[in-house]
Amino acid sequence: MTHVHPPEDLLWDYHRGRLSPGMRLVVRTHMDLCPQCRSELRLFDQVGGALLEEIEGVAMSDTALDLAMARIERPDEPEPEPAATIKRPAFLEGFDLPESLKTANIPGRYWAAPGVWIAPVKFDEDTQGTKTYLMFVRRGMVMPEHTHRGCEITLMLKGTFNDLNGSYSRGDFVLCDETIQHSPAVGADEDCLCLVAQDGLILPKTLLGKLLQPFARI
Ligand SMILES: [Zn+2]
Repeated sequence: MTHVHPPEDLLWDYHRGRLSPGMRLVVRTHMDLCPQCRSELRLFDQVGGALLEEIEGVAMSDTALDLAMARIERPDEPEPEPAATIKRPAFLEGFDLPESLKTANIPGRYWAAPGVWIAPVKFDEDTQGTKTYLMFVRRGMVMPEHTHRGCEITLMLKGTFNDLNGSYSRGDFVLCDETIQHSPAVGADEDCLCLVAQDGLILPKTLLGKLLQPFARI
């Protein structure tokens, strides 16, 4: 149940503005680092409309109507503030942060354990039930074995970590849910920085997401 790229359903919900602010930030940051997913998103723009017309021609189900309305009402992404107006906290100096994180509001950090710090990301919008943070883990550390509540997505920004499912490094997108139990180990050569978003919601499986899969895999 792990992915180096976000699954198509998640990309589709990103595309139509249905993700919580934290999930949206993680997916957008992956986009900054992944040309493949950027072109997949452009494909959604081109194919989504054509598919909707086809669905409407056959039978206009409630779901299709909902999706059509969602498309029409898709909110514009809020304009990020100019980077110059955001004061970078000193603890983020020296990290090569992708564009989308340079404008994120990350006011401070706390040490969660020796060698592990957490820096929450703040949003203007309502983020009830969700958590978004940068997590730093010193090289060579092994995290305690754990499972996940709801859906958790992690984007690697620096270093590597390994678990039973594989090895992950910068740009890799990892999806965890209640079924995943693991104790990730950070590589011995480099400290690890990742962006994490937790969301109590189950990942949506939309009709259109399913329909788009054959196209998205090109
Ligand atoms: Zn990707």
